[in-house]
Order: sequence, then C-alpha cells, then structure tokens
Amino acid sequence: MDQIMIGKFIAACRKEQGLTQAALAEKLGVSDRAVSKWENGRNMPDVSIIPELCALLKIDLNELFAGERLSMDNYKEIAQKNLLEMRRQEEMANKRLLNAEKILGFVSVATSLAMVVSGLLVAESSPVVSIVLCSLAGLTVLVFAFYGIKIEHEAGYYECPECGERYIPDSYWKVCFAPHFGSTRKMTCPKCGKRAYQKKVLTKE
Ligand SMILES: [Zn+2]
Repeated sequence: MDQIMIGKFIAACRKEQGLTQAALAEKLGVSDRAVSKWENGRNMPDVSIIPELCALLKIDLNELFAGERLSMDNYKEIAQKNLLEMRRQEEMANKRLLNAEKILGFVSVATSLAMVVSGLLVAESSPVVSIVLCSLAGLTVLVFAFYGIKIEHEAGYYECPECGERYIPDSYWKVCFAPHFGSTRKMTCPKCGKRAYQKKVLTKE
C-alpha cells in the first residue's frame, strides 16, 4: 500500500467533486488537518470513516487502497489484496486498543493502590488528606472501569459459539454488566438469541 499515492488520489478525487479540504473534513466530522495528513500521505483515514469517504469521493474501497481508478482487468486481483489488507489493519487497530486497555488497567490499579497506601500512612496525622486520597483511589478505579469497558465494547467483535455470528453489542451497558473472565463475556447473541460465553475476536470474518 502506497500512502503517498493514496494521498494524491484522495486529493485529486476531492477536487473532482469540487470539495475543499475543509468541506470534506466537515462532511466526515474530522479536522481539516486530518484530511491534509491523508493527502500528504502521512496518515491513512480511519477504517471507520473509509466507507463514507469513498462515497463522497465517488470511488470504491479498492480504488482508494490502490490509489487509482481501476479497470475491470486488474480489479479482482486488487480487490482481493485490499480486502486482506483492510482486515489486517482492523486487526492491528483492535489489538492496539486492547493493549491500551491492559496498560490503562495496570496504571490505574497501581495508582489507586499507591493512593490508598499513602492515605493509610497519613491517616493518623492528617485524616482529611487520608480520606481524599482514598476517595481519589476509588474514583480512579471507577473511571478506568468505565473507559476499559468502553474500549472493550468498541474494539473487535464478540463471537457467538452457537451460530458463529460476530457482532458489536448494541449497548455499552450490556457489556458492562455481563459476567466475564478476561474479555470473554456472557451475553445474548443478537442473531440466534442464545445466551452463552462469547469470545472476543479481532475481525469480522
Ligand atoms: Zn448466535
């Protein structure tokens, strides 16, 4: 994948559609700078907005990744290659998110433990400080739990062991209150409706 070529292609298609960088950015809900970075080949658009970007530029996904308009001859081969590349990118992005969750978890536990320990150490000399420290520790854990589960909700898919459906649960709270070990959670499959432990997988297929 040649990011410079893709960037130039995005810029060319954007101009063809009579859009400025700012106009395209606004339609996609990203910053002008993000668009400029794609066009300079310094960054790729996020997987989640690629379909909308393609629609606005009136190109398809395979053309975007190839960085050029495709003729019917080379289309199939390139389409296949790009599909694999997309999947690999999504997998990497999700892996990064889940790793971030682990690091966040570790840091928050370490921080709150440190706060509780210091809180206990100063309990006698300054009880107010002690209470503040312990409350902050509790708050840290709560905030982490919220964001940790948010990451887990959004990164990758849950796979139903009964029918094999891979899906993103439709609500944060379903993920939040599901019994779990690791990132495997007991939830109801939206397709077959069976309740089972659903394993986290990184890609849709
Ligand atoms: Zn199912």
